[in-house]
Amino acid sequence: MFLHISVFRPLEEILIYRCPPELVKEVSVGKRVIVPLKTQRATGLIIKILDHKEKIKDLEDIKPIIKIIDPYPVMDESLISLCKWASEYYLFPLGMVFKIALSCLPPAKPPYYPARIHSLLETIRGENRQIGLDAPSLTEDQKKAVEIIKGALSRDTFSVYLLHGVTGSGKTEVYIQAVDACNRSGKGAIVLVPEIAITSQLIARFIKRFGEKVAVIHSGLTKGERLSEWLRIKEGKAHILIGVRSAVFTPMDNVGLIVVDEEHESAYKQEEGFKYNARDVAIMRARMINATVILGSATPSLETLHNVHTGKYKYISLPQRINKKPLPPIQIVDLRKRKTDSLLTPELQEAIKKRLCNKEQVLLFLNRRGFSRFILCDDCGYVPPCPNCSVSLVYHKKERKVCCHYCEYKADPPDICPVCRGQNLKALGTGTERIEEELKNLFPDAKILRMDKDTTSKRHAHHFILTSMEKKEAQILIGTQMVTKGLDLPEITLAGVLLADNMLYLPDFRSAERTFQLITQVAGRTGRKDKPGEVIVQTFNPDHYSIAHASRYEFDRFYQFEKAYRKGAGYPPFKRLIRILLKGNRAESVVAGSALFKQLLDKYMDRTKIEVAGPVPAPFHKLRGKHRWHFLLKSQSTRYMRNQLKQVLQAFHMEGIRGVEVEIDVDPLHIL
Ligand code: ADP
Ligand code: ZN
Repeated sequence: MFLHISVFRPLEEILIYRCPPELVKEVSVGKRVIVPLKTQRATGLIIKILDHKEKIKDLEDIKPIIKIIDPYPVMDESLISLCKWASEYYLFPLGMVFKIALSCLPPAKPPYYPARIHSLLETIRGENRQIGLDAPSLTEDQKKAVEIIKGALSRDTFSVYLLHGVTGSGKTEVYIQAVDACNRSGKGAIVLVPEIAITSQLIARFIKRFGEKVAVIHSGLTKGERLSEWLRIKEGKAHILIGVRSAVFTPMDNVGLIVVDEEHESAYKQEEGFKYNARDVAIMRARMINATVILGSATPSLETLHNVHTGKYKYISLPQRINKKPLPPIQIVDLRKRKTDSLLTPELQEAIKKRLCNKEQVLLFLNRRGFSRFILCDDCGYVPPCPNCSVSLVYHKKERKVCCHYCEYKADPPDICPVCRGQNLKALGTGTERIEEELKNLFPDAKILRMDKDTTSKRHAHHFILTSMEKKEAQILIGTQMVTKGLDLPEITLAGVLLADNMLYLPDFRSAERTFQLITQVAGRTGRKDKPGEVIVQTFNPDHYSIAHASRYEFDRFYQFEKAYRKGAGYPPFKRLIRILLKGNRAESVVAGSALFKQLLDKYMDRTKIEVAGPVPAPFHKLRGKHRWHFLLKSQSTRYMRNQLKQVLQAFHMEGIRGVEVEIDVDPLHIL
């Protein structure tokens, strides 16, 4: 008996192995095996059992497999097909796709020992013992949405719904009812969320409703914890899986529904290695198994809206907040008129004071952690850069270090300027740490919490910060992106965006879209229950279309404007992109590699159908010690580009320039 095995290594080929007679009974597609590979052993997945009739070359050279790991298949045919598709689509080796897809399983052999249950889950489960309670009667809009989705579920055909609901319109309740309907018809559901830590409220609501039927898988779990959650799914104890992007590959039988919450979120895109977008993989998975997909968002991506307009996806809208509560008014504060350097403008200070008097809560968002953005020598203008990356170092006051936010580099802040020996070093620009300090001085009686990468490195730190806000132990929460999503705290009546501009000027065609989304999301955190909310957005560009439209909740107008821009400039969703990044330790090799790559692109690509921009240094032309150059390919379809690119890659590897890595990003989200 011969087997096709995909080995979990960066190989292009699928390998053939022999199955020794004593293992024949155990063999089946979808089980993992240990095989010899050159002088080593490797893990792989059986993806096909070969027919007797199939011709096999060099029979004598075929080696036998060593061992079968799994007692039962860990992947079914449909999931194997999904991984094959993902490997083809994202131009990433199949074995590595399998490896990532199966990362919830331990590499070791059975018997599997489930670990102690995940402690955060325990906490949430403990806090939500009264299962089955808390089912509000749906609003008319919610009812309509649920009916449409139930209809789709009962038809067992592939369909995708965009659930476009303003913040606080009760999307989660629609997911819950849809998941319930799916479970009742005997099928499982997968709910993808952008980040687990900040979605603990959504998880809590699911657990309240469904109890032990919910399994949660994410990267913060230990191997044992992940396994024990997966086993509960496999054994049919859990029918609902909540997870972050990698959960889209979780082996779960008979999936009927996949929910992608906040579908526009960039967290769904893996930026390292296998650069897949979990939202898009979810849609492909559903298509292969005739399942239903719900994409939920208050600010859907242009790609998704385009798919609605071309009829690929269907549209469901929740245009109003629960109980017809108004969306909180957004006031714009023009920073060009401010008199001091501080981002806590008099308008914002007044508004905060008012909330503190009323014993309400405040949420402040700044897209930058640390104390100051950079240190500047006032005499010669020197700014200490990261030695590994083309960015300046950020000062962290509490730690008394200057740090790079892109690599691990840290150093003591300079006392004197290393260039001119001057002593007038200034910490300029603002981060969350400085705002926290200023707030403490301004409001000494208030308890202030900060949520950013620096304060949440410990396990479950998010959960404790949020619980503390929930219990009203603190009055002000300041944070980065983490505070913009998913929070449902009734006492937050003021939200402030301290500086709307710092996302706007990244050299990236999506920066206006992201700015619009962030402002809308932050605003959506206020006035969700009985007390009305208010929002302050501070900016140097009050007239920029993304900021102006966001401040008036003019989603359609923004969308029309942005669409016209994308169409004119030939960007997604009207054209498809592939980004090619070349990187290496030596600048000369990267430049030489880029020149060669360009020649090959010209040779193999039909330039009437594919536009090639580059090679040029990437906006971050040095990162973590590597020099970086890139190309951008543009065309009507990715298939065409992918096919031709494959040839280019093969030719490039044949010529082989030493010390240059090539990274391919199909449908890139960031091009920095
Ligand atoms: P979204 O995800 O659209 O921002 P949520 O699902 O978080 O909104 O709902 C907002 C709030 O309204 C939540 O506190 C939720 O418990 C509550 N809610 C949702 N649906 C209803 C309903 N039908 N009746 C009363 N309250 C509801
Ligand atoms: Zn660095």
